[in-house]
Amino acid sequence: MIKTYKFKLYAAKRNKKLHRQINAAGLAYNHCIAIHKRYWRLYRKSLNKFALQKHLTKLKKLERFSYLKEIGSQALQDVTDRIDRAYKLFWTNLDNKRKTAPPGFKKVRKYKSYTLKQAGWKLDEGHGTVYIAKQKYRYFKSRSVEGRIKTLTVKRDTLGDIYLYFVCEQKITEVKLRTGKSVGFDFCFKDKMLVAPDEENDIAAPSFFQKNQKAIRTACRNLSRRQLCSKNRQKYRKVLARLYRKQANQRRDFHFKLAKELCQKYAVICFESLSMKAMQQGHGKKVNDYGFAAFKNILEYVGRQTGTQIVKIDEFYPSSQICHDCGYQNKEVKNIRVSEWTCPSCGIHHDRDRNAARNILSEGLRLLMV
Ligand SMILES: [Zn+2]
Repeated sequence: MIKTYKFKLYAAKRNKKLHRQINAAGLAYNHCIAIHKRYWRLYRKSLNKFALQKHLTKLKKLERFSYLKEIGSQALQDVTDRIDRAYKLFWTNLDNKRKTAPPGFKKVRKYKSYTLKQAGWKLDEGHGTVYIAKQKYRYFKSRSVEGRIKTLTVKRDTLGDIYLYFVCEQKITEVKLRTGKSVGFDFCFKDKMLVAPDEENDIAAPSFFQKNQKAIRTACRNLSRRQLCSKNRQKYRKVLARLYRKQANQRRDFHFKLAKELCQKYAVICFESLSMKAMQQGHGKKVNDYGFAAFKNILEYVGRQTGTQIVKIDEFYPSSQICHDCGYQNKEVKNIRVSEWTCPSCGIHHDRDRNAARNILSEGLRLLMV
């Protein structure tokens, strides 16, 4: 199993070095993209990444490319790896008749990270420090790293803070499946976030989204009124970035707490696997706000640890259209705006989400029996 640990670095003057290294990686990235494009123009062939790496090592010796020396050879390799992956994705997309843009240039300012494999860094957990390119940095040691560390990624966010990501390989500890209550949930976008078969088990939407929204709207307005490239604009850009970061942290925290609470309460949790694209068309921004996709990943992760089974139901299962009491499928409920309906067959009045949650639960239990 792969687990990622994230740590924040202490703010320090020496962090400038890391920023310079990330900038250098960004410059190298753009240079490689340019070479790729030229190679394609001349030979109509995709450039091999090993040839590119060889070329970069040669460039390092030139005065003009002395910035390449800022970063270790491993980080440089990571740049070519990234481009290679991006091109491979681009080609497979083309093969599958999906037209996407080929990998392009990036603004160095917006280039975010580089990755080191085994060499070029050393972790000293006892002191809460890490050595990167022989320079010592302190980080907020919130927990200790377990397992074998595969890579270290140095990443900066929009506010200029730097984070360490340790990707570790851990042995899977098998947790026995529990027995207990089971539940089905339908995603909801109103005052509730998750709707259960019974009203008492519903999960209310957290209140911080609305609170943040007001502040974010004000900050956006402030930002748009400043002149481009002005100092004030920089200031307001940071204000906005800080708000977004706060919201992301709050959301993640909420997700973990909710996942733990649910996994303690239930032995089986059934969900509909939704296509996020389709949901966004129906509900817009709130899908991103609530972060259901991230929540489902977290729930599966917590479920593995506590022995709770998470059952995913196919997205084509018409959970909201089927009457839970008689099984009649009412196609008119397909329209997302229908929030209440009466079954034409048996005459029972349904709340759209509650009925869907009931169906999701029974379908999930059926899948478990198979
Ligand atoms: Zn019915």
